[in-house]
Amino acid sequence: MQNALQDRPVAPLFPLFLDLRGRRVLVVGGGAVAARKIAALLEAAADIAIVAPALDAELAALVRSKRITHLGAAFDPAQLDASWLAIAATDDAAVNRTVAAAAQARRIWINVVDDAGLASAQLPARVQRGPLQVAISSGGASPMLARHLREQLETQLDESLGALAQLFVELRARIRARLPDLAARRRFFERILAGPAQALLRRGAVDAARHSVEAELLATPPARRGSVALVGAGPGDPGLLTLRALRVLNEADVILHDRLVSSDVLALARRDAERIDVGKRVGGDHDATQQHIHAQMIALAEAGKRVVRLKGGDPFVFGRGGEELEALRARGIEFEVVPGITAAVACAAHAGIPLTHRDHAQSLRLLTAQARSGDAEHDWATLAQPGQTLAFYMGVSGLAHLRNSLVDHGLAASTPFALIENGSRPQQRVIAGTLGELPELAEAHAVQAPALLVIGEVAAFATRLHWFGDAPLTNADARCRDLARAA
Ligand code: SAH
Repeated sequence: MQNALQDRPVAPLFPLFLDLRGRRVLVVGGGAVAARKIAALLEAAADIAIVAPALDAELAALVRSKRITHLGAAFDPAQLDASWLAIAATDDAAVNRTVAAAAQARRIWINVVDDAGLASAQLPARVQRGPLQVAISSGGASPMLARHLREQLETQLDESLGALAQLFVELRARIRARLPDLAARRRFFERILAGPAQALLRRGAVDAARHSVEAELLATPPARRGSVALVGAGPGDPGLLTLRALRVLNEADVILHDRLVSSDVLALARRDAERIDVGKRVGGDHDATQQHIHAQMIALAEAGKRVVRLKGGDPFVFGRGGEELEALRARGIEFEVVPGITAAVACAAHAGIPLTHRDHAQSLRLLTAQARSGDAEHDWATLAQPGQTLAFYMGVSGLAHLRNSLVDHGLAASTPFALIENGSRPQQRVIAGTLGELPELAEAHAVQAPALLVIGEVAAFATRLHWFGDAPLTNADARCRDLARAA
């Protein structure tokens, strides 16, 4: 007969754990295979009835001790009537087929040993640690693969997990009573997993482990006040996050992030944390967006959530972090600040530009190229002084005004600049030249945000010390492109 499974469209089986306590399970067959299944069913405290002309010694003993019931020698479909589940475990394919057909007709789940095609239920490969179980199925694709996975898990899952789960069973009522709040309970579990309990259980010191869990239960505050961590995500490469940022991301309930934050960084946050993109849209009303962010942060923290406000670079460098903290302070919400690597530092590093240099730059200024309308202009005369490095954020447009202002106030048109687009990211581009040709070069290379502009003698190092990504693009590259375009 053809294996019916092969005719079915491939769909994964639906995993389900059954509570079989006191529920009738009919097992047809009295040999070693049936005995194995019955042993597992007994662990689940099922009410087991068996049908077989002859029973193994082991099974006969179970019948004698009344742990299972022997209904008779021959299968009769009526035997299924009181059953929740049936298992056909004979070595006679015809009998197995009859049992399967009768069970299917009554809508009783049927497992057929060695014939997944006849079965509506399959028994998984299992890894057990006390009440904890991992069940594995390959959906009939490859029982070998499932067994292989089970062997791997057997070696990986610590034996102490069973005892730990047992401890949680014992303490469940007390844990719920003391920590009714789900978030508080989760924090308690996190602390237990990080604490000594498992090591104690591994040594068999069950009482000491119980004491440590009880102590932690008393030490965990039942209701948690919400809080906000203002976190710098750095320039995009997750390797440039701080360890503290990583810890805070791992404990977050909700993450409010800007668009500048890379998906690689977000991927490191706690899986269950809700992620909300609060990025300001170009052309949108920035102040309205900002007020909305304040309102969201406050509402979430007041609902008891651990909120992470995640910003590109450093939150206090052109990040409006100050305004956000003022809004939180006004509501008495607890906060902390985790610094991040700001764009100037990250871009300079990845472009080979030392921001200060004993011979060329004794100071560094972080500036925004975009003043809000009505804001005072920069003090251009001061910025035009030699011996300093200027790092301009948000400087993709308005470069002609910037160049003219600096040159008009006396900075040499020959002063080097480097414009770093997507600094530290795989698609980084560096455009290098002199101040006089800055706006034209940026346009020729179609520089896009995010980009950071460095002006000063140190910018010339980009052509000599570049190590990350491609060499800087220059005037010569732009001319080649123009020629190619003209041709
Ligand atoms: N708080 C951020 C800056 C936010 S303002 C920080 O500390 O870095 C946004 C500006 O930062 C962008 O317009 C751009 O000038 C700069 N920027 C941020 N990430 C950048 C990157 N990967 N490459 C180049 N510039 C970047």
